[in-house]
Amino acid sequence: MTQRIAVLAGDGIGKEVMPEGLRALEAAARRFGLDLAFEAFDFASCDYYLEHGRMLPDDWHPTLAAFDALYYGAIGWPDKVPDHVSLWGSLLRFRREFDQYVNLRPCRLLPGIESPLAGRAPGDIDFYVVRENTEGEYSSVGGTMFEGTEREVVIQETVMTRTGVDRVLKYAFDLAQSRPRKKLTSATKSNGIAITMPWWDTRVAAMGERYPEVEVDRFHIDILAAHFVLHPDWFDVVVASNLFGDILSDLGPACTGTIGVAPSANINPEGRFPSLFEPVHGSAPDIAGRGIANPIGQIWSGAMMLEHLGHPAAGAAILAAIEAVLAEGDAGVLTPDLKGRGTTEALGRAIAERIASQT
Ligand code: ATP
Ligand code: MG
Repeated sequence: MTQRIAVLAGDGIGKEVMPEGLRALEAAARRFGLDLAFEAFDFASCDYYLEHGRMLPDDWHPTLAAFDALYYGAIGWPDKVPDHVSLWGSLLRFRREFDQYVNLRPCRLLPGIESPLAGRAPGDIDFYVVRENTEGEYSSVGGTMFEGTEREVVIQETVMTRTGVDRVLKYAFDLAQSRPRKKLTSATKSNGIAITMPWWDTRVAAMGERYPEVEVDRFHIDILAAHFVLHPDWFDVVVASNLFGDILSDLGPACTGTIGVAPSANINPEGRFPSLFEPVHGSAPDIAGRGIANPIGQIWSGAMMLEHLGHPAAGAAILAAIEAVLAEGDAGVLTPDLKGRGTTEALGRAIAERIASQT
């Protein structure tokens, strides 16, 4: 059966790395006999906004809901459209209205990439951050009283629901269960946030009873951040609330080198709505238009998409090709952020060729 993928390249280097993501996916589809159909859309971009006065057309929801997955580049062109308009008008609506309640980021040190953590080699850092993506600290419940006066009071509530927390915990435990180490770390702060976080701990413990094979530990968010830097080898699957996960899912990839290689997924695990796969990096206006952006974050996001669509071998082949090309370290192929002098296209082609020629 054909699997349909909506392609939303967005802005800036999104438009440059997307063709390389598609090149890798097409190579994997040929090699593994996958039936993928891609359809590109120009909305969810600042160009579309400048022409139409909005980020999305009226019928975006039924249009995109008909796809099996969304493959997304990067959004934002802050000189022309404020970030809160472009981001809130597109990506954040997808996350919310397609109920993509899991944000998944692999943190894996790849060969040939220098970690900012001294002495770390591939194999030392290989874990996932699972972030709750729809509620918690980002619930936008609250308000201001006596605004603009000396008596000003500002309140913003954290809203956690049993349904909302249990479903992301279940995803994280399932992921841990599927991995060789079977280890899950929970980010908490029950010594300081005295209502929601002790309750979060009880939900983790309750879910853990259903997964006797999974080893569970927990750390307060402050020391956990320190351990990411000092002991990244301790972690396998890390699960966190929206705010803590937001911080950890930037810190984790930062420990693995250039932002240009990090992928991410926004997942609706039940498949009621399509999930969205995108590189961690933004539209990078500072290097856009020069053909030197690193396409690996986009390509690796495509590998995650194939895994999600039920093709783990094809996803693994893409990641293996990325690792092989990085390990070779040909400066004529690697992009400048990897200390090479190659182009987006040269690196993308090298990876696609490797996918096609692997045995
Ligand atoms: P956003 O707000 O959309 O996340 P940003 O401006 O905060 O965007 P990025 O666009 O990710 O952040 O860029 C941060 C820095 O990393 C920039 O200097 C950019 O040039 C660099 N960068 C980002 N992505 C890549 C890439 N794929 N290849 C090389 N350099 C990149
Ligand atoms: Mg920005």
